[in-house]
Amino acid sequence: MPGQSEHIVIVGAGAAGLMAARELVRAGTTVTILEARERCGGRIHPLSISEFEYPADGGAEFVHGEAPVTRALLREAGLSLQEIEGERWSFDGADIMREDRHDPHEAELQAVLRDLRDDLTVAEFLRRHFAGDDYARLRHSIERMVEGYDAADPERASTLALREEWMHGGHSPQARIDGGYGALIDFLAAECRRLGVIFRFGCVVLAIEEAGGKMAVRCAGGDVQGCDRVILTVPLPLLRDIALPESARGKAAAADEIGFGNVIKILLRFSRPWWRERKQELANMTFLLSDQAIPVWWTQYPNGHPVLTGWFGGPRTAALSHPDPQALVDAGLDSLAAIFKQPRGEIARELVAAAATNWAHDPYACGAYSWATPRTREAQTILARADSAVLFSGEALYRGADMGTVEAALASGLETARMILRG
Ligand SMILES: Cc1cc2nc3c(=O)[nH]c(=O)nc-3n(C[C@H](O)[C@H](O)[C@H](O)COP(=O)(O)OP(=O)(O)OC[C@H]3O[C@@H](n4cnc5c(N)ncnc54)[C@H](O)[C@@H]3O)c2cc1C
Repeated sequence: MPGQSEHIVIVGAGAAGLMAARELVRAGTTVTILEARERCGGRIHPLSISEFEYPADGGAEFVHGEAPVTRALLREAGLSLQEIEGERWSFDGADIMREDRHDPHEAELQAVLRDLRDDLTVAEFLRRHFAGDDYARLRHSIERMVEGYDAADPERASTLALREEWMHGGHSPQARIDGGYGALIDFLAAECRRLGVIFRFGCVVLAIEEAGGKMAVRCAGGDVQGCDRVILTVPLPLLRDIALPESARGKAAAADEIGFGNVIKILLRFSRPWWRERKQELANMTFLLSDQAIPVWWTQYPNGHPVLTGWFGGPRTAALSHPDPQALVDAGLDSLAAIFKQPRGEIARELVAAAATNWAHDPYACGAYSWATPRTREAQTILARADSAVLFSGEALYRGADMGTVEAALASGLETARMILRG
């Protein structure tokens, strides 16, 4: 079988790297993973159980939609999923109310989307079809979703790529893994170790060189790893920092046609769920949407952990570029104080633990996840070709509907490994 007698180096021990490694090593390939961090998981980032009292996720948290590769892996690992239930609320600047997702122009939007043949950016789509004052609310909710949920820039994001999401009323069903995404990574990493994958942590790959049909992977600090092929699973922005052989450099340029967005995620654990005391109907609240500095909040419902998670995604996160996590926690408390009309000091007094990350500042992620522009599918096809000794894999390479997810990363890793094994 092709790939079997080879030594393959995988750069990155995130979901894509681990999934590719397991598939290859099962077929008899020798696999070494070089990982810059001191842990597996990458943008799956479990937080300390002692601080949050449950396996809280500082990075990926939800399983979106059908996610067949993720669900198959969960079954193998004996892990279960909890579907997200509960109510969505919103704050309109004056009151908190149950979210009214009905828009009078919904049918019109669906009809235009259905008939759309040629791709265009979301901003252009809205200018062309929904320009009038009547559509202000529709435009606002679409822009809010594209920026907040997809972490994308409406001026560059593909309408066709997002159409599926909108045509299903905005969001596909979501679930959480009992034990968090960390439990899934632990399972994959243990599988890789059991099957003989070699892990090297703290290895920041700087260059890949090709000489006489062999590859040399150079790490910061001077380590060099020889091999036959390399799979790069680093997040898109990191590709620019790695020197590549001529043939791969040309291909990597296609990555400029794939969008990459940022997210700020803030987890606040309180001594008690004070928001339920403010308003009894909030007992089964999941999501709360607002136009505050940290606009989206969610609870752990139906689990009772007194934790609120704040979320701010998209290009506007650049305005909150302060590197200090405490400044993000403060911004989160300010937003909650405004939404719940409660003095900020009172909310802060209930705070027991906090974790805040602006993912643009994470040196090995440089942002959160990818999104599609009208030229992304073409770029992905170029990047995914197995026509040189350097292959590209990871969430940004996934051509299905849910780009930018863990499912995308797992499926891409699997596809890359199978492509190598097919020859
Ligand atoms: C805040 C946040 C929330 C998210 N929420 C969700 C969610 O709810 N559901 C969902 O499905 N997805 C979510 N995602 C997206 C999901 O986490 C990613 O799509 C997925 O984990 C990416 O996996 P990957 O293997 O492609 O990349 P990564 O996980 O980034 O793995 C790449 C690895 O490469 C390493 N690396 C980088 N540079 C180098 C180098 N030079 N040398 C060596 N190693 C290097 C990194 O440290 C990393 O471990 C979220 C992401 C973020 C940031």
